Amino acid sequence: MVTPLLLLILYRLPRCRILFKAYLRQLGAAVSLTRCTQRQPGKFARRDCRAARNYASKLLQAGFRYTFAMDLLPELTQEERQRYSRHLILPEVAIAGQQRLKRSRVLVVGAGGLGSPAILYLAAAGVGTIGVADFDRVELSNLQRQILYSTNDVGKWKVELAVKRGAELNPEVRLLAHSQQVDATSVSSLVAAYDLVIDGTDNFATRYLINDACVFAGKPNVYGSIYRFEGQASVFAGGNRPCYRCLFPQPPANEAVPNCAEGGVLGVMAGLIGVIQATEALKLLLGIGSALSGRLLLYDAMSMRFDTLQLSRDPACPVCGDAPSIKTVEQSAVSCAEPERPCGSTSDLSANQLQSELSNGKFLILLDVRNQHEFELCHIKGAVHIPLAELVSRANEVDKEAEIVVYCKAGTRSSKAIEVLAARGFNRLRNLSGGILSWIRDVDPSLPSY
Ligand SMILES: [Zn+2]
Repeated sequence: MVTPLLLLILYRLPRCRILFKAYLRQLGAAVSLTRCTQRQPGKFARRDCRAARNYASKLLQAGFRYTFAMDLLPELTQEERQRYSRHLILPEVAIAGQQRLKRSRVLVVGAGGLGSPAILYLAAAGVGTIGVADFDRVELSNLQRQILYSTNDVGKWKVELAVKRGAELNPEVRLLAHSQQVDATSVSSLVAAYDLVIDGTDNFATRYLINDACVFAGKPNVYGSIYRFEGQASVFAGGNRPCYRCLFPQPPANEAVPNCAEGGVLGVMAGLIGVIQATEALKLLLGIGSALSGRLLLYDAMSMRFDTLQLSRDPACPVCGDAPSIKTVEQSAVSCAEPERPCGSTSDLSANQLQSELSNGKFLILLDVRNQHEFELCHIKGAVHIPLAELVSRANEVDKEAEIVVYCKAGTRSSKAIEVLAARGFNRLRNLSGGILSWIRDVDPSLPSY
């Protein structure tokens, strides 16, 4: 039995170090030794595991001048050696790498388009613990890209299905379901429990929160996003890397950037970018190759081109800069809150409110700002159609004095349209919250949903 004291003595004798490492390797342990003086407590090699770090800190507190962290990796069973045999013959992975994966913990936030392939490949690769955070149910329109789910799953909780599916694929790994919303109260403890985070979210508030929590915890944030025929991926935060806010310091106003529910997305994009995220996660866990940190990968499916944008840490970044203005996740959540709407210009109304106003005979203009084919597919009776892209040039077609209710598919483009109209002197503007989808759901289910 190797006692910590014996290891300590061995390590403190320089001539013994090589022998000592060889001896531990013989025991099947992957070892990384780091010296940690009292002046620099907590400075350990990246590969050191948490338990060893904690033990080393205790030794420091007890007055030892030098200490080290030893990394004992979990054994692989015979079944695991068979299952991962194609990994084991790669010299870059081999047994020690596979053991490292077995010990690793990855949090996937969002079990949607990006999360689906990422979770499946991480489970197949043998990442020992995979946390899945999601609080949505499966919808029929998800199945075009979210390959974790099948038609029978519509209406069921994604997080439960994702965990079940991952466990079926590989019973050797542990999948943990986190069904709560990732917000300021939960994000820090979630991130703390994992080695890295895969961001598979589709909203800005959560994306910024994950970024900031990863910066605070010093953990890598493997980012991906898709829209229409384009995708992006990068590795932010952790190890002095630039973070998402170095690229985009603040969330866009009123979610002015359209999302996939609004602008559409080619389903296969989710697979491609999600697999790139899983690849980066595996490389980081194995400590091989060069990560996508300091680089933003841009993929354009139409031209089948990959481009890379060089990124560097921004000294003025509000979260990882030299004088950060955001120092806690609570401050981060406030900075991501929905910004105030332009003064006096607009308010939201629900589909039910709109219906009751229309049936009471109230005069109002219903303005549909979706594209032509969407308007042809379904629209609210009596609506005037001006696509958002044409609104600037055709705003004069709308009566400035009338009360106007603007709608689109889900409420994002209509917010943008309201900004455009408000800037041109319209002041009786309201936004149909949830767009025509909420109208179809709550008022007129006979219209086709899409
Ligand atoms: Zn930053």
